[in-house]
Amino acid sequence: MMDIKSSMAQIKVHDKMFGPFLSDQDIQQQVRKIAEAINSDYAGLRPMFIAILNGSFMFASDLFKYLTIDAEICFIKLASYKGTTSSGQVITAIGLDVDIIGKDIIILEDIVDTGKTLNEFLPKLLHHQPASMKIAALLHKPEAVKFPIRIDYLGFSIPNKFVVGYGLDYDGLGRNLKEIYQLV
Ligand code: 5GP
Repeated sequence: MMDIKSSMAQIKVHDKMFGPFLSDQDIQQQVRKIAEAINSDYAGLRPMFIAILNGSFMFASDLFKYLTIDAEICFIKLASYKGTTSSGQVITAIGLDVDIIGKDIIILEDIVDTGKTLNEFLPKLLHHQPASMKIAALLHKPEAVKFPIRIDYLGFSIPNKFVVGYGLDYDGLGRNLKEIYQLV
């Protein structure tokens, strides 16, 4: 159950309490900054954004509205299953039905935590021979990193605490919050 009393008071999502962390305004300001940097870096190009669902849908939607360059976007979902490789897990992309050969790719991720997901997924994308590949992430938890990933466009570096809101969920809920809340 989600119990929202005011837009930035403590909230309860399922059984846990979350405190205000990043306001709507903070988030929009950083998303706009990322979009402006991309507008300038990709002037005259036509990048293809690949947004990783589910969590990145709000970030992708807001960022896209601030773009003034020509750009394409597609949404994919990553699924991991037990494979026969030494690492045990294999990650596949569902919905990557566009041709990325020779394209300038920008991956959109809600949050980079340990870096495991992108660490496994990026080499697979590189096999498709894009012209270039950069990463834009709204949030990053430097203390949680186990697989270092270079993030080219970052919204916020945050402490290693669980967060919800702005597309991020706790067990299915909280994605609709405009703000980001941190577990207390
Ligand atoms: P990584 O592979 O980098 O460890 O994890 C990335 C994924 O873990 C994110 O795309 C997100 O789905 C999930 N994740 C990591 N930290 C958080 C968090 O604090 N809150 C939520 N809601 N999801 C998180």
